[in-house]
Amino acid sequence: MTARILAVDDIAANLRLLEAKLQAEYYEVLLSSSGPEALTTAFTQMPDVILLDVMMPGMDGYEVCRTLKADARTQHIPVVMVTALTDSTERVRGLEAGADDFLSKPVDDATLFARLRAILRVKQVQDAWRLRSETARDLGIDAASEPTISIADSRALVMGTDPDEVQRVREALEADGIEIATASTIDEAQRLLTSGDFDLALLALPEDAMEVLRLASRLRAQNSTRDLPLLLLADPAQKMQVLRGFDLGANDHAFRPLDPNELRARARNQIRRRRYQERLRHDLDRSLEMAVTDQLTGLRNRRYVRRHLDGLLRTEEAAVLIVDIDKFKSINDTHGHNVGDVALRDVADRLRVQLRAADVVARYGGEEFLAVLTGAPSGYALAVADRLREAIAAEPVKAGPITLPITVSIGVAVGGPGITSERLIGSADEALYRAKRDGRNRAYLADPALDKSAV
Ligand code: GH3
Ligand code: MG
Ligand code: MG
Repeated sequence: MTARILAVDDIAANLRLLEAKLQAEYYEVLLSSSGPEALTTAFTQMPDVILLDVMMPGMDGYEVCRTLKADARTQHIPVVMVTALTDSTERVRGLEAGADDFLSKPVDDATLFARLRAILRVKQVQDAWRLRSETARDLGIDAASEPTISIADSRALVMGTDPDEVQRVREALEADGIEIATASTIDEAQRLLTSGDFDLALLALPEDAMEVLRLASRLRAQNSTRDLPLLLLADPAQKMQVLRGFDLGANDHAFRPLDPNELRARARNQIRRRRYQERLRHDLDRSLEMAVTDQLTGLRNRRYVRRHLDGLLRTEEAAVLIVDIDKFKSINDTHGHNVGDVALRDVADRLRVQLRAADVVARYGGEEFLAVLTGAPSGYALAVADRLREAIAAEPVKAGPITLPITVSIGVAVGGPGITSERLIGSADEALYRAKRDGRNRAYLADPALDKSAV
C-alpha cells in the first residue's frame, strides 16, 4: 500500500535519512524543515501520515500536532512523533496533543514500517468513509454533526492473565470514566468482544504471545470487530512480537512497566479515532436516508417509490394508489402556505398509519401521494383506497385555531410483470382524473380493460 508521507525535522541530515528510507519502501515523501512549513504542507498537500520531530526552534512538534488535530480538514491525518526524548511525561504530552504514536530516534526501520502499515490500514478505511460522506455533503445532503469527539460512555475490555496488571490497567482507564470489562482467557475475550459493544480492547501479551496475536488477527477478520482498536501490552523484549502484532491487526501498544498516564492517553486517542470513524459512517447512513426521504412529510420521495415500483413489477403484482388532495390550492390561498404545509403533514401521517409496513407510501408531487401495495388484487386495493379516503375525510385537520375539512381523490391501478411503472401510474392517473371530474372525495379503479392487458 503506497502512501504520501510528510517528514518534518529542523535538521537537514535527519530529513535526508528518513527520505531515503521511505523512498526505498516506495512511499512518496514530502519534507518540511519547520513547524509553520509543515502546517502549510499539510493543509495544501494532505499527506496520509506525518512523521513529526518534537524539538524544533520556534513552533515545536506539540504545537504543530495540536494545530493539525484542531482543524477539521487535517484532524484525520495520523501524526507520529519522532523524538529523542524517551521520558514518559514527554510521550504523554505528545499523546495529549493528539499524536497517534511515537518513534524514538534513531528510527529503527522495522518499527517504522510496521507502524506505518498499521496506521495506513486504519486510515484507508477511514478515508473511504470520509469520501462517501463528503460526496453526500457535496450533493447538498447535509449530515453535519458536532466537531468534537468525546470518550464519554466508552467501554474497554482488558484481557490478561496477570490479575495485578489487569487491575492497574483498569484503574488507569477508569480514572478517565471508561467502563472496563475483563477477561482472563482468549476464548472469554473473543466471546465478549464479539457480542459486546466495546470501543477498545487491551490485550496483554504473555511470554508466548502467539495465541494472543492470533486472536488479534481473528478480531480483525470478523465483521463485528473489524474496526475495533486493539492495543497490545508487552515487555520491551517482545518488540518483534509487537511488530508482528501490528501486521496482524493491532493498532497500538504500550511497553511494561505500564505508565498509567501514557496508557490513558493512548486509550483516549484510540477511542476517539474509532468514534470518528463511527461518526463518518453514521453521517453516511443519515445522508442515504435523507436522499430517499421527503423533507416536509418524512415519507419516501418520488425517486425512491419509482425505483421500488420498478423493482416490484419485475417479479410481482402491485397496486398503485395516487392520492391527490382536493382543492388544495384554496387552502393555501385562504390560510397561507404554512397552514398548507401542516395539512400536508397531517395527511401524510394518516396515510402512513393506515398502510402496512410492507407498503410504501411516498410524496409524489406537491399535494399528491403515491402508495404502492404488494400482493393486492384490485378489489382489495380499492378497499384500501376507500379506507384511506375515509380516514382523511372523517376528521378535519387542525392547524392551530384553524379547522380544515380535507378530502382526497384516489386513482387505483393494479398490474404485474409485463407492465411498466409509467403505464401503471398512467392508468391510476386516469382513474384519479375521473374521480375529480365526478365531484372529488372518491376512489376509482382504473379501466379494467387495461388491467387485463397487463396480466
Ligand atoms: P384538485 O382538487 O383539482 O386537485 O385541486 P388542487 O387545488 O388541489 O390542485 P392544483 O394542482 O390546482 O393545486 C395544487 C396546489 O398545491 C398548488 C400548490 O401551491 C400547492 N402545493 C404544492 N406543493 C406544496 C407544498 O409543499 N406546500 C404547500 N403549502 N402547498 C403546496
Ligand atoms: Mg389536488
Ligand atoms: Mg395535484
